[in-house]
Amino acid sequence: MFNEFWVATGNKGKLTEYKMLLEKEFPDMKIHHQGELPTFSPRPEDGKTFEDNARIKARTLKAVKQGVWVLGEDSGLEVEGMNNLPGIHSARYAGPKASDSENVAKLLKMMALKPLKNRNARFYCSTVVFTPSGEEWVVTGEMKGTIALKPAGLHGFGYDPVFIPEGQTQTLAELGAGYKNQHSHRANALRALIEKMKAL
Ligand code: IMP
Repeated sequence: MFNEFWVATGNKGKLTEYKMLLEKEFPDMKIHHQGELPTFSPRPEDGKTFEDNARIKARTLKAVKQGVWVLGEDSGLEVEGMNNLPGIHSARYAGPKASDSENVAKLLKMMALKPLKNRNARFYCSTVVFTPSGEEWVVTGEMKGTIALKPAGLHGFGYDPVFIPEGQTQTLAELGAGYKNQHSHRANALRALIEKMKAL
């Protein structure tokens, strides 16, 4: 049971990243996700902050999975010159069923409407974890960068094709998984979590 780790997500891109990062650190750990539970139904993410929404995801899954690790994460892109939008609305920025490319297109369109000199942005992630004994932990991570003028690259998901990390000239979708697993908001939060797990 201690080696069962459940991730409250339906996002395949996120799940792939969690699997890569956690299995490298804990080779005996089995990573599961909510999609394996046929009757599982996620609750609406109606929180006001990333942390609220991460807690909603983790609690909903914990209600049906006890005595194991449960992780809920909410993340998104904040663009400085756009009052930190799309923020908690990142997944549905272009509409309730928007695809990644529709969200990216809307972001570039909104930024072009009032030509922004400031293209600074960050990815942020809040992660709520329940330990097998039911204790709640919160860890967070961020990655700073800028928004490209047009999409480039084929790796990753979401806004990766338009996000250029600080100190780089290529987008995350060009830099690929090796870079992202070292430097992303999710990797940074997970590093903090792994330290806590090892200290338990
Ligand atoms: P969530 O699944 O409700 O947390 O929505 C997160 C959304 O934020 C995703 O659908 C993406 O649009 C965006 N996002 C979060 N993390 C990343 C990332 O690592 N790369 C690109 N987009 C991301």
